[in-house]
Amino acid sequence: MTVAHSITQFKCRVCGEPLKFDMKNPGAFISKSDHEDFFGMKLTTYRVAHDTDDERHFNTVIVDHAGFFRGHRDAYTEPLDGITPTIDRNYWIFHEESSPIGKTENVRLALLISRTDRWVVDVVCPNTMKVSEIATLMVDRVEESQRVYNVIPQPMETRIADMDIHAWTSDERVLCVSFTNGSLKPTIDALAEHIVNEKEDSIVPRRRMLSVIFKILETNPNLSPSMLSRIMNEDMLFATLHTPYEERIPSIVERTAQRFPVAAEILGPLLRGYITFVDVLEGEFSSEYEEIFELIDFVNRRRILG
Ligand SMILES: [Zn+2]
Repeated sequence: MTVAHSITQFKCRVCGEPLKFDMKNPGAFISKSDHEDFFGMKLTTYRVAHDTDDERHFNTVIVDHAGFFRGHRDAYTEPLDGITPTIDRNYWIFHEESSPIGKTENVRLALLISRTDRWVVDVVCPNTMKVSEIATLMVDRVEESQRVYNVIPQPMETRIADMDIHAWTSDERVLCVSFTNGSLKPTIDALAEHIVNEKEDSIVPRRRMLSVIFKILETNPNLSPSMLSRIMNEDMLFATLHTPYEERIPSIVERTAQRFPVAAEILGPLLRGYITFVDVLEGEFSSEYEEIFELIDFVNRRRILG
């Protein structure tokens, strides 16, 4: 193995500018978290920011032990002059490669809104709707309800334009969902408190992962809270894998597929770095998420790629 270098290069996901930072220099990044071995890789997540004239662009990136960029976890923009929450009605919507789900069979709209940091994540949202306006109206309703009730009902039911909305709230967040029918309501009711009370260090949750969750729920409403939390927080799902021993890949795939059939289809492209686990979960394999996570744990526990 070559000597690890400490300069990591990647492109800002907001503006496309090439950026670099020195992972050995604590002043070069905002935060850092190390992860357990993942598919034989030692990965670390860094949050890095750079400024343009009037905005600060944040990028959360996954980097391997040799300093190579392995993937983006999220990216978002903050105005540099700061927002005064009581006056300014702007919410910042964050940047993702994928677009929100337009609509699902059972959900017409699902937004996660921050009451403290002024962001909104459009999980399920037709492009005909103004996300920022809905967020503003929704937070107004929550504040109104806070004046009326000692404890806000969970969910609180309200109406915005022609949509019946169910809203689950914490001090920091509001999850608002408009259902097309009642079939997913009990499931989301059971999971909502975990989404609005999420206390992970990241201030912006990953829309891609929330979208994956809503997609999974459409086919399998029995998503457990622990699995939900795992899908929302596992950075490594965004990493492009790299296996030093390419020639071993076919036998690893074959052996693993005997235990987890899904491996036959996904493990080869994953190990060759063509796709990431997020791509897999977003696509046709979303309903097989349990087996996919079992596969991840199996490979890591057995150190198959160590
Ligand atoms: Zn930028």
